[in-house]
Amino acid sequence: MRFEISRVMDTIEQRLTTDVTLAQAVVDLAEVARFVALDGGRPINLLRLGMVVDALSRYLIDAGAMLYPVAGREVLSEAALTSKERMVLGRWADDGLIEVTPVVADRPAEIADFTGLPLIVVRDLPQQAARFPWISDSPERLLRLTPRAGGAVLTPGGEPTPPKDGKERLVVVGKATLPIVPPDPDDPATEKKMAEPAPATDPPPAEQQGGRPDGLQSFTARGSQRFGRTRVVRRRFTRADPSGVGASLMAREWRCKEPDCPAFGASRRIGQPVPRMRAGMPACPRHGDAVKDIGPRPPAFAVAVVVDDLARRRFVVATDHPVRVGKDPKNPDDISVATWLHEAAAAWIAKEHVRLEVESGHLKVTDTSENGTVIWKRSSPDIKEETERIYKKSYQLDGWDSIELYTGVELVVGDHRLQTVVGSEPASVLLDAPTVAMRLVD
Ligand SMILES: [Zn+2]
Repeated sequence: MRFEISRVMDTIEQRLTTDVTLAQAVVDLAEVARFVALDGGRPINLLRLGMVVDALSRYLIDAGAMLYPVAGREVLSEAALTSKERMVLGRWADDGLIEVTPVVADRPAEIADFTGLPLIVVRDLPQQAARFPWISDSPERLLRLTPRAGGAVLTPGGEPTPPKDGKERLVVVGKATLPIVPPDPDDPATEKKMAEPAPATDPPPAEQQGGRPDGLQSFTARGSQRFGRTRVVRRRFTRADPSGVGASLMAREWRCKEPDCPAFGASRRIGQPVPRMRAGMPACPRHGDAVKDIGPRPPAFAVAVVVDDLARRRFVVATDHPVRVGKDPKNPDDISVATWLHEAAAAWIAKEHVRLEVESGHLKVTDTSENGTVIWKRSSPDIKEETERIYKKSYQLDGWDSIELYTGVELVVGDHRLQTVVGSEPASVLLDAPTVAMRLVD
């Protein structure tokens, strides 16, 4: 059991970051860890963070969705957590995978304001709307977390999800809130879901998921059409423009005077978060001291590996951090796509197929393969596509361009995914150990 919990924690860990380039949503860690209604279990449980990662994956239809958790310092020594959970939290804090701050207060909303990232909430934030008017003016920037049959679902607009039943949905039109319904352990559907073995290689066909409340269903229920594997254009909110203060903060690199600071220390290996504003001064969220401006922040780009129209993994390409992508790159820090390749794709794609780097503020791709790389050129999401094949040469990406290593195996910049497939559901980070998931409802 201990081994399985470790595996689940390791899987969750891969989906956490405080790098503002890589993150896709912000959340108050303790608030969701204490959100008992998610599973009806212990007063605080770190595995609930995995339920949030799963919910974000389903909301974005992105199997590699990355979460930016903020935790109050007191959570690290919370006695109600298991010693294993406290150890894991301490490691995440030291590695900069979660942000630790003495008092959380409106820090998650501040990060959402500075970066434009959506903010995951479990309750209304009326007081914070005074500092951040978008909380009331742009409710789509809030993703409301609600329990669903042993899991969780995110709904834009800050309101709990209406039930899937059409009749009930009509009833709730115009209402602000709905009671939170904890999962019913006697409900056979709940039991089935909890007792399911580790996922098969393919997700079940969409029709078999009928009645299972999940993010995809709420997606289709919101007016999109589905005909088996129908491609649908993405219209979901993914990121707003950063606020003016946020844009200035993210344009600079900052240094905390604590040498080992996981947020703004010199030895941080991933991209920086945004400082906290205290009395008009940028400050370290962890240590409270003013941070020093050490120069312009080097440009960085988030890139998603998209296979069969489902994003599988996100990574960052930065000025000082070029990345090679292929089926078996030599450097373990590079990106391997081997996991997602069928035989023909694996035969075509080179061990190191392309190199991505940032040059003069732009993302540049260089083909290093034997078979070449196709660039899909688009100046806007709607423009007619043109392709160019590059072979042993470079291309500077622009607009909505994407890179194709092989048919169906693409590298896409940021959130520029044009379409996605309903029916290919992202796998759960909790399903590595179904017995652990079952324990959530103990
Ligand atoms: Zn610091």
